[in-house]
Amino acid sequence: MLSVQEIERLSEEFETKTPQEIIQWAVSEFWPEIAMSSSFQTQSMPLLHMVTSLKRGIPVFFIDTGYHLWDTLMFREKIASEWQINVIDLYRDTRWDVFARQNTRSLPLEDPNLCCYLHKVQPMQKALKDIKAWISGIRRDQTSVRAKAKILELQGDGLLKINPLLNWTKADVKKYMEEKNLPSHPLYEKGYRSVGCAPCTIAIGVNDDERAGRWAGRGKVECGLHTDMFKKKDIADVKQEFHMDVTKVK
Ligand code: SF4
Repeated sequence: MLSVQEIERLSEEFETKTPQEIIQWAVSEFWPEIAMSSSFQTQSMPLLHMVTSLKRGIPVFFIDTGYHLWDTLMFREKIASEWQINVIDLYRDTRWDVFARQNTRSLPLEDPNLCCYLHKVQPMQKALKDIKAWISGIRRDQTSVRAKAKILELQGDGLLKINPLLNWTKADVKKYMEEKNLPSHPLYEKGYRSVGCAPCTIAIGVNDDERAGRWAGRGKVECGLHTDMFKKKDIADVKQEFHMDVTKVK
């Protein structure tokens, strides 16, 4: 097991390595206790391509919130089948079913933090419980939170999060997509530069920030998978810290 000091040293060293070199290291260090996550949108394609080419059969977690656009689900099906990817769908814990069903329409609008916690954060926490390393596709140029991320990040419970594309830019993604002739999400050309759940995604202009169409005008930029929310395991702590207010949900 790597010590905290070794992780910090390697993370620094990886700042000058290619994503492929970082992925190769991760797979040789942690296989078979390693998985990646993907939202199957256009900017996810390079990492998905690199990881699944380097290690066939690696588990790819896809969070099925139940709020996805049909186009995303169809694109996920097509890529999983054509690339023969071992996709594992993650779902909300069934204990929230009654509450979530009663509030299906209002929850994303009235309390998006709680909604993301129930539909994204908790299912991912559960899926990662039995493995040692998680490859994620975040980039520093996407949000102010991601700008502060490290290539290797030790989560509170010993899980190592690996961010091989952290130093990549939008231009690097485009270049790799063109070089490898990778397909884009079907809504990309219609202005959906970053695609999340239907109630929280809008089309944007070509010059807008890549994630401007996510939770637009609602003061939220992250779902919680890449923030401190992910490190909280108790819903009471999460509710207090992220100002969740279920009383507004109807
Ligand atoms: S992105 Fe919107 S609909 Fe999806 S889980 Fe978060 S708040 Fe809910």
